[in-house]
Amino acid sequence: MKKCDYCAKEISYDEMYCCEECEKLTKDYYIRADRYAKPFSVINVVCLFGVMAGMFIFPMAKPFGAAMAIICCAVLGVLLLVLPFPTESMIRKFKMKKAIQITRLVGIGMMFLGVMIAGLLAIFLS
Ligand SMILES: [Zn+2]
Repeated sequence: MKKCDYCAKEISYDEMYCCEECEKLTKDYYIRADRYAKPFSVINVVCLFGVMAGMFIFPMAKPFGAAMAIICCAVLGVLLLVLPFPTESMIRKFKMKKAIQITRLVGIGMMFLGVMIAGLLAIFLS
């Protein structure tokens, strides 16, 4: 059975989407993804690198390393919530709606990671 490209509802073979709403949301997504793809990927890479670098220097310079990792986690979390751009393979696998939800969850996860690093720092400094 073929599935709607957006919400994964079952549809007939000559359709792409189950309803106009799904078609519209998919188009809106690609317009947004097109417009923000570059800044998104730059911020994404910089923050991921920042989180790893922050954790790497954490043993040497705890407050500085932690601050760096926390800020990068927060920025990445907000970025993924505001601009949830899943990868192409995720969209293929889960369909757009679920892939976007998963990406938002990853964003929330990044924020939790930031909070955990802050907690870790508080334990180390006390
Ligand atoms: Zn649909």
